[in-house]
Amino acid sequence: MTRRFSGDRLLVATHNRGKLEEMAALLAPHGVSVVGAAEMGLPEPAETEETFVGNARIKAHAAAKATGLPALADDSGIEVDCLGGAPGVHTADWAETPAGRDFAMAMTRTWADCEAIAAPLPRTARFRSTLVLAWPDGTDAVFEGKVEGRLVWPMRGTQGHGYDPMFQPEGFDITFAEMDPAQKNRISHRADAFRKFIEGCFA
Ligand code: IMP
Repeated sequence: MTRRFSGDRLLVATHNRGKLEEMAALLAPHGVSVVGAAEMGLPEPAETEETFVGNARIKAHAAAKATGLPALADDSGIEVDCLGGAPGVHTADWAETPAGRDFAMAMTRTWADCEAIAAPLPRTARFRSTLVLAWPDGTDAVFEGKVEGRLVWPMRGTQGHGYDPMFQPEGFDITFAEMDPAQKNRISHRADAFRKFIEGCFA
């Protein structure tokens, strides 16, 4: 049985502001506020696994061990079907530059790779989010979410973060970056994983 979380502040093992803000909004209705890894002065561990769950475990357990508090981590990314699931766990890596992350560059590469193989339209894709809640004693619980959609080009919209401007979720004609954040938070991969986390750990 999944252990219950009974505090009112949850340590979230991410240095990504966009993710932290989304997680804060998803947890606020449950009376839980979040504190980020950067605020706690925690280092960013290397994500050396080839699966979302493996990398989420690294981040969650490192933070729980360093602080003695339960810690939640999300590992997420976009899988493009015609690219065999790439960039997948390497989604953030595709944006890395010596001057920081450049998502316009990463999205341009993603679309160029689809063009290079003349992939038919629609170029179906999904965002995945895997949440791991790690306890200081080394145990954990895993919750997985996804949202199906397609890539669009050129990119559209200014809201959100990461690959949002090129992802149009199924059943919508706007991208995540054109969507009101509250609406994205109802249908996103992270919302799907959070629903399972909240049912498992708070209900
Ligand atoms: P990581 O989980 O920190 O390894 O990074 C996953 C990467 O996937 C992020 O840096 C974003 O580029 C991308 N990503 C994850 N979730 C979203 C989302 O909701 N919108 C846009 N991009 C996302």
